[in-house]
Amino acid sequence: MSNAPDIVIIGSGMGGATLAAGLAPSGARIAILERGHRIPDSAPARDPWRIYTNSAFRSRETWLDEEERPFEPGNYYNVGGNSKLYGAVLIRYREADFDEMEHYDGVSPAWPFRYDEMAPWYDAAERLYEVRGDAQSDATEPPHGAPYPFPPVPDEPAVKGARERLENAGVRPFCLPLGVDIDRWLAAGNTGWDGYPDQRCGKMDAETCGLAAALAHDNVELITGARVTGLRIGSDNRRIGEVVYEKDGEEHTLRPGVVALCAGAVQSAALLLRSGIANSSDHVGRCFMNHNATAAIAIDPGFRNDAVYQKTFGINDWYLSDGNGGKPLGNVQLLGRVTPDILKIQVPQLPMIAARWISGHALDLYLISEDLPDPENRVVLKNGSVQLIWRRSNMAAHEKLLAKTKKALKAAGFPFVLSRLFDGRVPSHQCGTVRLGDDPATSVLDPECRSWDHPNLFVTDAGALPTSAAVNPALTVAALSLRAAETIKQELAQ
Ligand SMILES: Cc1cc2nc3c(=O)[nH]c(=O)nc-3n(C[C@H](O)[C@H](O)[C@H](O)COP(=O)(O)OP(=O)(O)OC[C@H]3O[C@@H](n4cnc5c(N)ncnc54)[C@H](O)[C@@H]3O)c2cc1C
Repeated sequence: MSNAPDIVIIGSGMGGATLAAGLAPSGARIAILERGHRIPDSAPARDPWRIYTNSAFRSRETWLDEEERPFEPGNYYNVGGNSKLYGAVLIRYREADFDEMEHYDGVSPAWPFRYDEMAPWYDAAERLYEVRGDAQSDATEPPHGAPYPFPPVPDEPAVKGARERLENAGVRPFCLPLGVDIDRWLAAGNTGWDGYPDQRCGKMDAETCGLAAALAHDNVELITGARVTGLRIGSDNRRIGEVVYEKDGEEHTLRPGVVALCAGAVQSAALLLRSGIANSSDHVGRCFMNHNATAAIAIDPGFRNDAVYQKTFGINDWYLSDGNGGKPLGNVQLLGRVTPDILKIQVPQLPMIAARWISGHALDLYLISEDLPDPENRVVLKNGSVQLIWRRSNMAAHEKLLAKTKKALKAAGFPFVLSRLFDGRVPSHQCGTVRLGDDPATSVLDPECRSWDHPNLFVTDAGALPTSAAVNPALTVAALSLRAAETIKQELAQ
């Protein structure tokens, strides 16, 4: 490969791979630098003990928390990034998420553009990621230019029964939009997909969709094991002139025309801070968001859960309002099935016999509430290490969401509901650290994801999101990347 490609993309996760897919047909010479490697076919990808206990796939790196205590974040560095282990819920932000929204603990600011601007890019992202869904099943579903490319993943019988019980209790479950070919996934192993790494057997993720589409063009090259360590300004003092990376212990330098940083919200901010660039606003690393999330297990001794994957419906009844004219609370969706092994791993003191009983009589849910952007929540560097300072916001909404959900589950015949707030040190839905906006004083990127300071630098990963909304972020990252690809193509054409 030439050391002066037209475009260097840093990271092959949801942002980087989708951007590459959008840019590849232009014929531009594109190098994708990815610090990780492909998850091998031989990896223990369906063994919960290897996944959840000795973290066979998780990075061993440590970050520091606010008190400077080291912790291992749940971050995955491999081809496809975090999307290789994700739950494949590919859901759009709702229309109202692009407008200013008042919450119990503050305001979620408006984006610099409205939903209509994003709608065609969401359509394109759903095509690329072959999303399965039903646009009629949720009252909060925003307008689509086309139906979902595939019909929804079917409920298993136990889940269908639970859905009917909730409907009878007055709740309106909807079909979760999912990027999974369920027949292919199950043919490779009888487990759910949520949290399980994909070995190219049915999960629609950054590697199997975005990257596969990009690499079908011979002008695109993926370099794995290539960790970018710095970006250097060129001789004009404005444009990024050099991308420096390490591979196999050696340092290499590329001199591209355009640089797209897609290393994930935390690592993109860290790289910009380390390089001392793009930060005239002093906003790089600020406004880190991560959702308030709770796992809930609803138990009914009379309910028999023999589902394998479970994760097929969600509830948005309290997304835009608490149902009584109050403020928004958030989204509820089924978790991947919490099997006896997973329950035992999460609660080691629980006897296995109890784990089996609970798992066999429970429905497992995941509750998400919006985290609000606060400049004091931030990624900083401490002696070269990442320090993550995150204080939860909007917990009043999250507590109300949990109370509403428990009430509905009890009305549906699940008398016991156990719940646990997700650990703040697992930044699965990290975003906001390199936010786009229309004011260079309070944002790092312009509305097209271009750095205000460096005209040939784009950031198209979750860091660019100015708000977290209360739904899973990956489809919005993908849509934003396809939109930015168009801007970059126009730039190259000039
Ligand atoms: C367990 C789990 C479940 C999830 N479930 C869902 C879900 O159901 N739906 C959903 O929408 N979202 C889900 N998410 C979140 C989703 O995966 C992320 O929002 C999405 O992957 C973010 O895309 P990204 O491009 O910002 O980062 P990533 O996809 O993480 O990609 C970043 C890439 O950059 C690489 N990289 C980092 N630093 C460097 C460097 N210095 N040099 C070179 N390469 C670098 C990384 O290795 C990685 O490949 C889940 C996340 C986790 C962890």
